[in-house]
Amino acid sequence: MSSRRYKYHKTSSICDWKNSGVISDDFDKLYEKHMSINNCQLCNIEFNKDIMMERRCLDHDHKTGLYRQTICHKCNIQFDKQKYKNNKTGYINIYFEKSRNRYRYDKKINGKKVCKRFQTLEEAVDFKNKFENKF
Ligand SMILES: [Zn+2]
Repeated sequence: MSSRRYKYHKTSSICDWKNSGVISDDFDKLYEKHMSINNCQLCNIEFNKDIMMERRCLDHDHKTGLYRQTICHKCNIQFDKQKYKNNKTGYINIYFEKSRNRYRYDKKINGKKVCKRFQTLEEAVDFKNKFENKF
C-alpha cells in the first residue's frame, strides 16, 4: 500500500472515530491496533486486505468513549440493532436499565446533559413530557 493511501486512510479513520465520540489518548496507537486485527472479533470473518475495501469497524463503549473491539461492518450493524432492542422502551431518550430494573431519561439540551432515573416507565414518560415542554 502506498504511503499516501495509508496516510489518507489513517487520517479519515481517526476523524470518523472522533466524530462518533471515540476517546483515546493516543489515536496513532489505536489506529495501529485496529489495523493489526485481521479477523472480526465477533464472527471471525477475515478483513479484506485491500485497505479501500476493508470492512473493519471500530466498536466503542458509548458511555466512556473507549475502544472495545474491532468488528466487521455486518456485525457492527447487528450489534447496533441489538443494543437498540435491549434499550427500547418506545420513547426517544428513555432507556431501560436491565441490570437495575429501572428506567433512565437521558438527553442533551443546550450542551447540558440531563439524566434522571425512575422506577417505572410511567414516571419516566411523565417527566419527559413535562420537561420537554419547557423547551
Ligand atoms: Zn463480524
